[in-house]
This record gives sequence, structure tokens and C-alpha cells, in this order.
Amino acid sequence: MSSEVLWAKLYPKEWRERFQAAPIVYLPLGLCEPHGQIAVFGLDLIKAEYICEKAARGAGGIVAPSLGYHIHESGYHARWLEEQIGEENPRMTGMPPHVMLYFFLYQLRAFVNAGFKAIVVLSGHGGGNQADFQRAAGIFMAQFPVRIWVGTDGDLVKGHFKADHAGQFEISQLMNIDPTLVNMGRTQLEGEPNSGAKFARADNAFEASEMLGASINEACITRLRQVAEDLLVQARDISTDSITYDEIEHLWRALQKSKSEWVTSRPREGQKSVSQSSQWKRHEYPYTY
Ligand SMILES: [Zn+2]
Repeated sequence: MSSEVLWAKLYPKEWRERFQAAPIVYLPLGLCEPHGQIAVFGLDLIKAEYICEKAARGAGGIVAPSLGYHIHESGYHARWLEEQIGEENPRMTGMPPHVMLYFFLYQLRAFVNAGFKAIVVLSGHGGGNQADFQRAAGIFMAQFPVRIWVGTDGDLVKGHFKADHAGQFEISQLMNIDPTLVNMGRTQLEGEPNSGAKFARADNAFEASEMLGASINEACITRLRQVAEDLLVQARDISTDSITYDEIEHLWRALQKSKSEWVTSRPREGQKSVSQSSQWKRHEYPYTY
């Protein structure tokens, strides 16, 4: 069987062979957002892709084209951005929740219509947004007989490692995946007016190491492989039909009804509100209608 796991790089023959051995698909989710001056913007996406590819090599299955746009700015992200970025330009590929979740339902449809019976969605961007994808996956599973797991790399190693944003955890992960994507010397302003020295980096980023990253990534891969194998067992006797646009629109209407409850559509409980003067104020409650 082909050792290639990327859907985009498989020929139909090899795709079918991998699919028949394990009808599971992996969707890596991430985005470009600041991780300090010391790391590249795509950290979240790069680690999600890496973990999915390694897990697919172990458990079988196919890795779907990844999505490098993700929910940001809205709800709880707004205060975070005020604190981490202030009035700078974060240079990020953020999307509003309703755009992402709507598209997500259609991504799930594409996977089912391609034949998959089990779906793993791994987000490298955590902090709570995964709950909204889990909600969307929940209503999808209530309608269609497919098994879906949604979580973050931090969820995979909960209790063993503490996930962070651009701190010891994440920077170590990236160092292990590709050391050329981390430059610990880049701590100073780079001359551009909107490139603060910290730029969303956590204070303990300098405690990162390639070795720690290897342990974290290995633990993520082992756990995701287990998740995939469990889903495959649960999905063994499932048979799926193809899904229409109408059926997805119906789910979307149901999902929209809970808009005010989406984790990404409001601040966290007890979270400080965004300052009136902040550029992020307008995204704190994105759905006022
Ligand atoms: Zn990150």
C-alpha cells in the first residue's frame, strides 16, 4: 500500500487502497496568527498537519487538504487580542464563527460523500473554539451515521502536558517539527511599526526545547492514533448515503439557532471586557442581531 497519506497527492488507485484498509479521514485545522517574533505565523496549522500525517501513517486513513483559516477575533478572542496584540496588526487569517462553522458542515458532507465513515478533526488552534466545532459535529452525527472526533493537540495530551500559546509547549512542538521555523534570537522589534517584541509570545517560550517538543508530539500522535483506531471500530458497520445541499442547509439552520451560545460568540465567563478604545471591541459580541 502507498505510504503517501495526503489526499491531494494520491492517485485514485492508491486512494482506494488506503480507503478500503481504513475508511477514515483527518482534517488538520489551523491558521496564521502571531506566535511572537521567534516563530512563524503558521505554527497551529503546521503542527496539526504534522500530527495528522503521522497518525494516518500509523492507524491508516487519508489526510484531507488542511484548512489554514480559523475562528479568531470574535468573542473571547477579542480581549485576548487586546492584551496580546493591542493596536498592532496581527497579520492573521481569522474568520468569523458563522463562516467557519457553515463551511465546516460542508466539509463534513464532502468527506461522507467521498465515502468516509469516520472523521478526525484536529485543530492546532485551541482555547475553546473546538467546542463550537464539536457542537456542529454533534448535530451532523445526529443526522448521519458517521463517527466524528474533534479536538486540539492540547486535548490529546491533557493531564500530561499543559498546552499554551507560543510558550514552552507550542514552541517546543514547532522546534521538533522543523527547527528552521523557530528563531530564538528574534526578540527585538524588526523595524516595522506594528511588530511588537512580544507579539503574543508567552514568557516561558525561551524554556522550549526540541527534546520536549519530541515528547509532546509523540504523545499527541500516539493518542490521535488511538482515537482513529477507536473510531474505525465504532464505524465498522456504518453505511452512508450521499448528502444533499438541502440537508446541510437544514442542519445549518438548526446550528444557527444556538448562535448566542457558541463559545466563540461571547467572552468567557469572568473574562474582563474589551476596552472601549480597543480595535477589538467591535468583535466582542459579533452577533447583536
Ligand atoms: Zn498556536
